[in-house]
Amino acid sequence: MTAYDPDNIFAKILRGELPCEKIYEDEDNFAFMDIMPRGPGHCLVVPRAPIRNILDAGDEVLARLCPAIARVARAAKKGFDADGVTIQQFNEPAGGQVVFHMHVHVIPRFDGVSLGPPASNMEKPEILAENAEKIRKAFG
Ligand code: AMP
Repeated sequence: MTAYDPDNIFAKILRGELPCEKIYEDEDNFAFMDIMPRGPGHCLVVPRAPIRNILDAGDEVLARLCPAIARVARAAKKGFDADGVTIQQFNEPAGGQVVFHMHVHVIPRFDGVSLGPPASNMEKPEILAENAEKIRKAFG
């Protein structure tokens, strides 16, 4: 498998070199809004560890990531008063991965509303900020 590239976009966000709309962090993980959401409240949970995807992730990283995904999913559902939540995770180009730092998509879902296309519509910064605030407020 290709080696991890420390200059990928999410590594830069983790180092604070690129901006993001942060919604959650703990010792091992970080979460922020997806700039091209497939639905309102679409956000990403990222382990801080320099790994490409689930194929090179150690058990320890995954064990610490799972509770963070669940916390963000619950907050996103609550913050958007959603009916459900879709969790997605892509691995390597053939698997649909575009950014090569492990990340998990968390997307609030509403009955009868289809998922938008991936990485197609850049959201306005002010909407992303509003949506991030809804999720941040929903952490219990
Ligand atoms: P994928 O690698 O296919 O799982 O998806 C990468 C995701 O990252 C897409 O949903 C993009 O919209 C999102 N994305 C790309 N650049 C940024 C960025 N600078 N900040 C937040 N999300 C991003």
